[in-house]
Formats: sequence, C-alpha cells, structure tokens
Amino acid sequence: MNPIDLRSDTVTRPTDAMRAAMAAAEVGDDVFGEDPSVLRLQQTLAERAGKEAGLFLPSGTQSNLAALMAHCQRGDEVIVGAKAHVYWYEGGGMALLGSIQPQPMTQRPDGTLDLDLAASLIKPDDVHHGVTKLLCLENTWFGRVMPAAYPAEARAFCDRYGLAMHLDGARLFNAAVAQNCPLAKLTAPFDTVSLCLSKGLGAPVGSVLVGSNALIKRAHRWRKVLGGGMRQAGVLAAAGLHALEHHVDRLAEDHHHAELLGAGLAQLESFQVETVATNMVFIRPPRAQPGRLQAFMRERGILLGDSNPLRLVLHLDIKRGDIDTVVAAFKAFEDDLNG
Ligand SMILES: *Cc1c(COP(=O)(O)O)cnc(C)c1O
Repeated sequence: MNPIDLRSDTVTRPTDAMRAAMAAAEVGDDVFGEDPSVLRLQQTLAERAGKEAGLFLPSGTQSNLAALMAHCQRGDEVIVGAKAHVYWYEGGGMALLGSIQPQPMTQRPDGTLDLDLAASLIKPDDVHHGVTKLLCLENTWFGRVMPAAYPAEARAFCDRYGLAMHLDGARLFNAAVAQNCPLAKLTAPFDTVSLCLSKGLGAPVGSVLVGSNALIKRAHRWRKVLGGGMRQAGVLAAAGLHALEHHVDRLAEDHHHAELLGAGLAQLESFQVETVATNMVFIRPPRAQPGRLQAFMRERGILLGDSNPLRLVLHLDIKRGDIDTVVAAFKAFEDDLNG
C-alpha cells in the first residue's frame, strides 16, 4: 500500500485514467513545433489564463527562469520576496544563469510586498546601479491566497515605474478554486504567469508559462538554451490536459481536507496549528528529539517533512479516510510522548 505522503503535493502518482490519456497521446517533435498535444496544452492554458500564448516547460523552476530572462537583460534587476520560491528555492538561477540581480525584500505575512518599500528600492538611472525591470510575485505563497485587491495595486505601481510584472503561480489553480473565481481574473494584471501541472493538479511533470506572443517567443528561445527543448513531449502534455479537465475543481476537496486536518490537530494539546491555507496545514510539533515524530509516523505509513513549522500538504492521493488515520496517529504520538 502507498504511504499517506503529506510532504508535498508533488508526490501524486498519475491515475489510471491519466496514464491511459498519456498512452493515447498524439505526439510529434516539439522542438520542431510539431507535437499536437503540446500545442493543444499551451493553447488551452493560454486561453484559460486570458493570454496570447503558452509555453510548456519541464519544471516550474525553468518556467520562472525563462520568464525572468524574457523580461530582463544582463545586469537588470528583479524586485522579489526574500522567501519567494524564485529567490529562495531556485538555486539562485536568475543570478547564476540569467545574469539578473535579485533585489529581495521581506514579505508581509500574506506574502505581498509593501509597495512603498518596493518603490524605495527602484534604482535611479545611474551607472552605479542595476536597471530595475521587473516585479515578481507569488500566489499562493505557503498556501496563502494573495489578497484579491493586491494584484491591481501592484499593476498600478508597475505602470507608474515602468516595470513588468511576473507571477509565480505554481499553485494559482488552488487560489482560483479557493476564491471561486476564474483563472483569467487572477492572471489579468500580470505580463507573464507560470503555472505548475505537477503540484495539486497531479500531472507527473511540467509547467506552462503564459503571456504575450512577444514574451513567450523570447522565453521559448531561453527554454531551448536552458535545455528544456523536449521531443515527443505530448505524452507529458496529455497528462497536463487530463489534469486540467479532471483535477481542477477537485482541489476544493484538498482544501476541505486541510480544514479537517487542521481542526483535528487543534484538538490535541501538544500540537499548535499555525495556519490552514488552501491545501496546506502548518503546525508546531511538541519538543522531542529531532526526527522522532517523523520516525513514529513512518512506522504507521505516514510521511512527513522536517520543516519548522511543519508543513502538511493535502493532494489527490490523500482521501477523506486518511485524515482520520493521520489525526489518530498524531494523538498516538502525543500519548507516547506523555506516557
Ligand atoms: C514547486 C514550485 C515551483 C516550481 O518547482 P519545480 O519543482 O521546479 O517544478 C515554483 N514556485 C513555487 C511557489 C512552487 O511551489
């Protein structure tokens, strides 16, 4: 039996129906632009996001990097959250591979950037400085949905200072489902948006970058340079198309499961529930030897990460009944600690 894996929503395995869709995919050489499934996925997501064009990439990391490189020249600068994925979790790729200088700034607890502070970090036109080109935001951020009014404020800010705006929307479908709002409404203020298929949507691989024809054309060039040109990638695109059709609305189930799990753990004395946000629950476990909780859970078929606060992620492979199993196991751990 597969474990109850709460480490991430990237751990989902393709369903039988998804595997059947992959097996049946029409394919061609996508570097020649001849894979019909890839073309269909790109067009489908561009339409859903209200943008001119889409580009299928092997990972969200490469999608963000190709987007930043499409917006920026060597020596340009990006204003970005200090705990944004693009800055914190992507190996410094924008600097390392893109020759782009990040200007990180501390996010507010909802993940947004203080725009007055951001304004003070825009560099004057002077040979001493990099050229500030882009504002990069993230939705959802640690599961948190960006406040509905913020993207329009950020857009006005960018227009005032002549900046472009990119969204790392790895889990933007979670935000759309949580707010019961069309994806295109959340993408509209942004020039480019990166969307992951391999998180809660349950595809094995892939992200799609959407934006204008001109920006996607530039990102396409960078994708090839970065080694992301894939050949009969329609097998993977078919998984994405299947996910878009069958796995978007059901994200609401993951959000519901997160609420149930949060409420269940809040009943226990020794676990402090910090945040329940879309498909994530963040808790502070009781003091114990490092790894003791993880080992206890592993023996019971439950896999946990080791972050602090501890992040528990709900996804396609976690069923309603699993929530009770997990809460009972946490209760058993508490008893074990006290006993
Ligand atoms: C997962 C994720 C990405 C991309 O990650 P890959 O593992 O490269 O696909 C980008 N941004 C956020 C916020 C993510 O959660």
